[in-house]
Amino acid sequence: MADGAVVSAGGTVAAADGAVAAVGGTVATAGEAAAEGAVPAVGRYWPVGARPPVLRGWEPPATPYGPGHRGVDLGAPPGTPVRAVAAGRVSFAGPVAGRGVVAVELSGTGDPPLRTTYEPVRASVREGESVAAGQVVGTVEGPGPASAAHCGRGCLHWGLLRADAYLDPLLLLPPWLLNTGPPRLLPVLAAPPPPT
Ligand SMILES: [Zn+2]
Repeated sequence: MADGAVVSAGGTVAAADGAVAAVGGTVATAGEAAAEGAVPAVGRYWPVGARPPVLRGWEPPATPYGPGHRGVDLGAPPGTPVRAVAAGRVSFAGPVAGRGVVAVELSGTGDPPLRTTYEPVRASVREGESVAAGQVVGTVEGPGPASAAHCGRGCLHWGLLRADAYLDPLLLLPPWLLNTGPPRLLPVLAAPPPPT
């Protein structure tokens, strides 16, 4: 269960209990959000890589228009393939204010459905297209002026919304995805046994 679970990802700790979502000018606790359908852990893939570094975590704003970080930034150099974390339908693919954005409505996540956003992304899918979990939807765009201002040298901003309410996208990932250690470089060539 994601509800109430304290998960550690990329050095950040997100407590679902403490998570807040700004809804219609009020601040709803995750508990209240749960009543209307909390975030199910339907994710099956990280958007980039196997377990990318979280360069900046979820910082929910205290007010709908207040400062904060409405998503998480995952370290990924330009050109990195971006994957749909779960199955769904592309609800948007194209530039927004000079940054490429891909949004995917996730299947089976209620009405209105959860919607993940990925940016800056050069889309390889089109609006209306169905995507499978793990399907590549584009690649991380190079750090143009706009993305450089947000992410620096290279990252993917990953967002999650239900209608207009922003949520912590890491809640989508089940513990087995979140808590798997960073990929280890196991020796491909085992050291030969010492000569006898
Ligand atoms: Zn960001």
